[in-house]
Amino acid sequence: GASIRIGIAGYGNLGRGVQAAIAKNPDMELVGVYTRRDPSAVVLQGPAPVFHMDDLAKHTGDIDVLILCGGSKSDLPEQGPALSASFNTVDSFDTHAMIPEYFAAVDAPATAAGKTALVSAGWDPGMFSINRVYGEALLPDGETYTFWGRGLSQGHSDAIRRVPGVAGGVQYTIPNPTAIEKVRAGERPVLGTREKHVRDCFVVLEDGADADAVREAIVTMEHYFDAYDTTVNFIDAATLAAEHTAMPHGGFVFRSGNTTDEHAQVIEYSLTLESNPEFTSSVLVAYARAVHRMNAAGQVGAKTVFDVAPGLLSPKSPEQLRAELL
Ligand code: NAP
Repeated sequence: GASIRIGIAGYGNLGRGVQAAIAKNPDMELVGVYTRRDPSAVVLQGPAPVFHMDDLAKHTGDIDVLILCGGSKSDLPEQGPALSASFNTVDSFDTHAMIPEYFAAVDAPATAAGKTALVSAGWDPGMFSINRVYGEALLPDGETYTFWGRGLSQGHSDAIRRVPGVAGGVQYTIPNPTAIEKVRAGERPVLGTREKHVRDCFVVLEDGADADAVREAIVTMEHYFDAYDTTVNFIDAATLAAEHTAMPHGGFVFRSGNTTDEHAQVIEYSLTLESNPEFTSSVLVAYARAVHRMNAAGQVGAKTVFDVAPGLLSPKSPEQLRAELL
């Protein structure tokens, strides 16, 4: 059949990742990148038409699914409700506590317009959420554990860069291997914050800054570091540029439960990602295929990954899936 026509709204890390993912999916076609900046000033990583975000209103008939690549903090709360009034959409809204409110804000315009809006796809929320649901449903007598990392945390990296005396730096969240082994062994441990993850910082000092004072300011920082065991490593600017510009991430979702007193069962899902945004974008593109099909089937309004049947993500037909993957 005809390829699925995709638009990208917002061109940052995820926007670039969506462009790369479309290139790996022959049933998809990128019809335009839309940005709030001057389109001529946006440097694309591959050829594609670039338009101003305002031009979207004129292109409603050209796009089957618009993938929203704006930030969760301030872009998506505006863009999600506004754009789902005219387009089928997929986004990666990841402020977990705000998801119910965001879902409602997108559901009303999407439903009124007969559009399908998949909110909060990606890996967490997204693939991890699905695995938490499977775990609870399959092993009702059990515990769910989510570990993140080893991964670069943008929020914590921003926080250390605001400490006086810091010229640059990054922070990695690392799951505690001892805790993971206990969970994997079916012990169902009760784990506090400090036992689940440690934090590892790589910091470039400003000229003349006091390393001990900087370390103390970081490890005692409320909300960000005080509840964790934090290591601060001092490096030079060249090392920071050479070794710490990638955006790795990943983690684990476990369900450890008992089907009888005699038998423990452990389910493990794990991700090891060299690029968090490229993987997230790859998930968004698969969900765009599902959204296109759900809209054609009359399933409109806001949806989450919980509402999408797995077969809808695949370019293969139901017949092919039954024959090859069941
Ligand atoms: P980002 O690179 O900061 O891009 C966000 C927006 O900022 C873009 O849409 C773009 O909009 C604008 N922008 C990008 N580069 C710019 C530049 N050089 N100058 C000015 N504006 C620029 O954010 P991201 O890394 O793509 O992440 C987007 C969101 O994805 C995050 O906020 C996070 O919540 C979410 N996320 C979710 C998951 C998940 O698993 N669910 C995983 C990772 C990330 P314009 O083109 O309109 O200017």
